[in-house]
Formats: sequence, structure tokens, C-alpha cells
Amino acid sequence: MALQLDNLRLPAWLLPANWPRQSGQPLRARLDLHEGRITRVQPANGQPSGLDCKGALALPGLVEPHAHLDKTYTRRRLGAITPGLLGAIEATHADRALWSADDLRQRASRAIEQARCHGVTHLRTHLDWWSAEPPTAWAVIRELAQDTPMHLEQVALVPLPLLTDKAQAQRIARVLACDTQAPRTVLGAFIHSSNYSVEGVHHLLACAADAGLDLDLHIDEELSASACGLATVARAASAMAFPGRIVCSHACALSTYPQAQAQTTLDDVARAPITLVALPATNLYLQDAVHDRTPRLRGLTLLKEARARGIPLLLGSDNVQDAFCPIGNYDPLATVQLAVLTAQLDDVFDTWSQTVCRADWLGQPASSAGLLDNVANLTLLHSSDPYSWPADTTRSLLRGECVPDTFNTYLRGLP
Ligand SMILES: [Zn+2]
Repeated sequence: MALQLDNLRLPAWLLPANWPRQSGQPLRARLDLHEGRITRVQPANGQPSGLDCKGALALPGLVEPHAHLDKTYTRRRLGAITPGLLGAIEATHADRALWSADDLRQRASRAIEQARCHGVTHLRTHLDWWSAEPPTAWAVIRELAQDTPMHLEQVALVPLPLLTDKAQAQRIARVLACDTQAPRTVLGAFIHSSNYSVEGVHHLLACAADAGLDLDLHIDEELSASACGLATVARAASAMAFPGRIVCSHACALSTYPQAQAQTTLDDVARAPITLVALPATNLYLQDAVHDRTPRLRGLTLLKEARARGIPLLLGSDNVQDAFCPIGNYDPLATVQLAVLTAQLDDVFDTWSQTVCRADWLGQPASSAGLLDNVANLTLLHSSDPYSWPADTTRSLLRGECVPDTFNTYLRGLP
């Protein structure tokens, strides 16, 4: 089936550098679709053909780069929690006794469905590993991944002390590398001042490289200027020419560094190269958190400085309705809204919308973004105003094989 969508406004980051502009704005686009794939992207010529989308904004399928499907929706049963990250870890540790396969399946499937309804086509979840053996959640999420059209990746979230022993680190990496049934497996770790060891970091990188695994690390999720996990990983990755993708999440400590130290660390991150994932909701909720005092420090990593260096940067929900964050709903556009306020972002649609779309920034360094020849997974927004997007997060979803009725319903919903 062939379809044509005309007069769509695509973000500047998704268009080629030579795409024509008018009054500083990229010209609207005409997309040809054939059998669920995008076969041509060209500038609209002012004479609408096919379905006229009237300048509505459009994005690719949305990415949730950082979730915790094993912890989600547990807040209601946790009782009182000590404020801050370590209190949340303690409360979650106690809750793990309830993580049966049925419990995990029920909570995680609800999360996947909520993300799917918000337009997420690619979701990466971290899953706690607290011994050398895979946790129950590993197999449960793998089963759920087979029942959803979403691309679902699993990261083993291992405390760094487990990896300080080289043999133990190699064993965990081998289990992951041999797990060919999971759609994509990534080795992760929690690296924090409370458990830091430079030997553990080096074992982690060496084992991942030997096993052909990518890395996704919770790192420096704290406001200590002495936290040095990100700097250590960046320098070690460059020194050994780490062959895969490294993703580092949080990096809150960067916000507390003296300026020169922050700049040097970001230069190292850019050189490695490392993808940064900022998680504004959990950082706002957990950093500088104490009873009976309003937080002064917000813990957001250095988004603008990272972007200025060309560092791949994504935004994630992180924790949703668990010990680490009592609210949230797996909506990447809600995460963008929060980032606009906390990081004071401008040019959000044309520049920053890529932080919830660039699945290639989770993949191999050579991968790239683009619409052409890809499955027609589009997020059609009910707004034609790039200046105030996403003030209104109403959207319609186009997923590959889509009947014209879907478009007609969408077009009727446009302002
Ligand atoms: Zn996390």
C-alpha cells in the first residue's frame, strides 16, 4: 500500500544540512510511504498532494533509553522511605523478596503498555543483578519482549563490588554474551562513591570488551565533587580504544565540579566517545533530599555543555512510581517538558527533541539517524508550533502498516 503524507514539519536535526529553509525554519516535508516503509523524503512544494498534514510537527518513534521495569509501580507497598538515593536503594532491597515472576510480569507489562501508548518504539530497561546468576526479572522481561512490537533491550545492573573480582566479572560478562535469546543484552553497573574501585572499573571495561558487550552505567549519581566514576571510565575507554558503545547515566556530580574540571571531564567523555543520559525526574527527586528542608541543589548533569561538545545526549524517565521516584508515566514528552524547565532549554523541537528519538545513540557508534528506508514509525504531534512544543503533548502514532483511516482520524484532530 502506498501513501503520501504532505506538509509535515520535521525537526532540523532529522533533515540533511542542505534542506531548504524559509524565514529560518526548515521547509515542510512530503513523505512517501510504501508497504510500511518511508521510501522518499522531499521538501513540500506548496501544492499538497496525498494527505495534507497542515504543517503539523512530526518525530520518529520515541525512545525510552533508561527505565527500571523490575522496580516500577512498587511505591504503594514500600511504606516510609529515607530521603535520597541510598534510602531508595535500601527500600528496594527489602522489596525484592516480593519480586516473583508473576509480580514482575504484571508490573512490567503495565509499564510496557504505558510506554507504547505514549509512542515509545525503543525501550531500554536496567534489571538488578545482585549475584553472579541472572535474576528472575531477566527471563520475565525477555518473555514480554517477544510479545511487544517495541524494541526492548535489557541491561544487567550489577553493583561495582561484584565486578572488583576479575573472575566474577568475567563470569557475569560471559553469561550475558551467551544469552542469545534476549533481543539485546548490555552489561551495566552502579558506580558511586560509596562503592567505587578503580580496579572494578577496569575489570568492567576489559570484560565487556572481551565479551563483545556494550556498557550502560549508572555513574556519579550524587553531588560529591570527589566522585570520579565518569572521568575514570572516559579515560580508560579512550586508553583501551573500547570497541563498543558506552552509555553513562546520571553524572550528577559534574554539576558540582569546578568549571575547569567539568570541562576537562566532558572533553574526555566526547573523546571516548560516551553517550550521556540525563534523568531529570529522579535527580530532582533524590538529589539534595533531606527531611524538612527544601532542596537547594538539583543534580542535573551538564546538558548544554555536553551538547556543545557534540556528546550524544538522551533524556530518560528512569524510575516510575517506585522507591526512587513516586510519580512518572513513561512519557518521553513529559521528560522533555521537565528538562525544558530544569535545564532552561531553548529551540526544543528542532534541537532537543532528538534526546528522546535517537535510538542510534544507544547502538554502535557508527549507526545514524534518518527516516529514509526505515519502518514508518512516526509520532504525529497535534501541534504546528515548534516554538512552544511540547506545551501540548497530544499525539497520534503511525506504526508501519497503517490504514488511511488512521490518518483521517489524525487529520481531524489537528487544530
Ligand atoms: Zn536508573
